[in-house]
Amino acid sequence: MTIKISSLFGNGQHLDGGAMFGHVPKALWSQWLRPDAENHVFLACRALLIEDEQRRILLETGIGAFFSPELKQRYGVTPEQHVLLESLEKLGLSHTDIDVVILSHLHFDHAGGLLSAYEADHKNRLLFPNARYLVSQESFIRAKAPHKRDRASFIPELTHLLEASDRLELIANEHSPTLGENYRFHFSEGHTPGLMLTEINTEHGPLVFAADLIPGIAWLHSPITMGYDRFPEKVVDEKETLLDYLVKQKGRLFYTHDPHIALSNVVRDEKGRFVATETLSEISRVA
Ligand SMILES: [Zn+2]
Repeated sequence: MTIKISSLFGNGQHLDGGAMFGHVPKALWSQWLRPDAENHVFLACRALLIEDEQRRILLETGIGAFFSPELKQRYGVTPEQHVLLESLEKLGLSHTDIDVVILSHLHFDHAGGLLSAYEADHKNRLLFPNARYLVSQESFIRAKAPHKRDRASFIPELTHLLEASDRLELIANEHSPTLGENYRFHFSEGHTPGLMLTEINTEHGPLVFAADLIPGIAWLHSPITMGYDRFPEKVVDEKETLLDYLVKQKGRLFYTHDPHIALSNVVRDEKGRFVATETLSEISRVA
């Protein structure tokens, strides 16, 4: 399938480095991502735009700018404005030009960009008025009824807005009728139930949007998990299954949270560990 792919920056966030690296000691993780004086590391929220023969498909919207100023500060969201909309504008596009938005799950740092930027006297509106929103059935159920442990990661009003749009498509199978055979989904339970990873069949082999299964290249090494992962051992097993497949297929991974790397190939090094090769920091309408 001939497609054009672009990486789009959204708003960034500064999160506690320890929380991002689970059981890994700071002496190690601080070599991978440098913390600031408050122990925060910078994480990107990078979206992937696919332009195929018929449609413009956006994989994720990042954290966006919907939080009030005090919550933006709490979660270290920068800058103030909705950066993803500006990134679309740089390509001559608006959110109204997007035909499909695929959300890997509904944590606020992946789905918050669906909402308009914060305004003091107005409720947040749902953007992308011409798009179908593709969300896995299981992650939608989780977002409607979160566990106490991950409730703070969801946006309570979002599921209602998506249902009211009449453009919500809940996915329970490998393929979606909207996208066809060139796109397929992998499902993963370790980070959050029903995490949906999109695989795109490109001329250069499979490309997988790694979402929060592998948020950046530091998490390619399979035992490295996040404190936010609900079931870390599952994350490790699911990562190995996906990465084994990509190594065999010479596939590529797209990283949403890596501060520097958007895309890479994956190989095993001499010790058998998964590592990134042929890394790209940005892609703009690359076939
Ligand atoms: Zn998440």
